[in-house]
Amino acid sequence: MMLKDSKFSSHLLHLSQLQTINHKTLDEYRDRLKTYEDYLWFGKPDRISAIECARRGWTCQNNDLIKCANCHAEIIAQLPSVLNIHEYTERVENIARSLVDAHHRYCVWKFMIIPESVIQLTDIYSNETINKFVKEAEEFLLQFQQIDLVGQLKTNFQIEATDFDLLSSSYLNDPRLLSAFKILVFYWKLKGSSLSCEKCCREISINRNHLILDPIASHRAWCPILKNEQWKKRIEQIETILHAKSRHKLEEIQSINDHTEQILPDIISTQNLFHELIPSKEYYRSCVQSTYVDNTPSSELEHSTNNSKSTE
Ligand SMILES: [Zn+2]
Ligand SMILES: [Zn+2]
Repeated sequence: MMLKDSKFSSHLLHLSQLQTINHKTLDEYRDRLKTYEDYLWFGKPDRISAIECARRGWTCQNNDLIKCANCHAEIIAQLPSVLNIHEYTERVENIARSLVDAHHRYCVWKFMIIPESVIQLTDIYSNETINKFVKEAEEFLLQFQQIDLVGQLKTNFQIEATDFDLLSSSYLNDPRLLSAFKILVFYWKLKGSSLSCEKCCREISINRNHLILDPIASHRAWCPILKNEQWKKRIEQIETILHAKSRHKLEEIQSINDHTEQILPDIISTQNLFHELIPSKEYYRSCVQSTYVDNTPSSELEHSTNNSKSTE
C-alpha cells in the first residue's frame, strides 16, 4: 500500500512546484474556473461556489460533478431542497470539507489554495485610475464600429461626456467612449474575438461590427462583481471622484472670476487718472470731434465747456 502510494505520488504535482504562485498556476486556475457553466454548477452557496472549488484544484466535469485534474478524485455535489434547511446545511458543510479532504493524501491541493487576492476587487480611489480606464477605453473603441450597452447600467451609471472633459481624452464627442469605459470598469477585457471577465472568467464571443453587452448581467452568478452588489459600490467610487473633480474645476473657474473683479477697479481708476491729466477743454473737444462730424459752432462748444468747467 505504501509502495503504491509513493509510486502514485511521484506522478503528482509537488508542493514545492506551487510554493510561489506564478503565471502558469494562475492560468491553470482560470482554465479550471472556465469549466463551470451556470447550468452545470447551479444554485451553489458561496462556501462551495465555482470560485471556491477552482481555488482548491477542482474542475467541473458535468452536472454537480467536479474532479481534480491532479489526483483524479471526484466529488458529486447534489444538494437537497433548501426547504430541508438542516439537511441542506449539513450537505453544504460536507461538500465544503471534501474540497480539501477528498484530494489524495499526496495531492498538492490538499495543502494548497489559490490566494484570495485573485478574486478581490481593487477600489477606484484616484483620478489616475479613472484616467487609466479612459485611456484603455480609447484603445478599446477603435476595435468596434458600434457599441451598445443594455441592462441596469443605462439608469444606474450616469456619466456625461462632459465629466470626461475634466479628464484628458481626444474622443470626447464619441459616445462609444462612455460605453467602452463602462465595459472596462467592470473587469471585461478584450481577448482576440471574445470578451473575458478577469474575475469569473466568463468568455463571450463578440461581433466587431456591433457589440451589444450588459456589462453586469453577463458575469457568472459567482462573479465577485455581483456579490453584495459590488458593482454599485464601484459606480459610487467613480461618481465621487468625477464629482469632486468637477467641484474642484468650478472652484478654479470661480477663483479666475474673483481675479477679474480685482482687475476691474484698477482699470476704472486708471480712466479717472487719465481724465484728470488732460485739461477738460481739450478732452471734451477731442471727444466731440471723434464721435460726431464737427458741425457744432465753436461758441456753443465753448459754452458747454465752460458749463462743465463750472460744475467741476
Ligand atoms: Zn487532488
Ligand atoms: Zn465576472
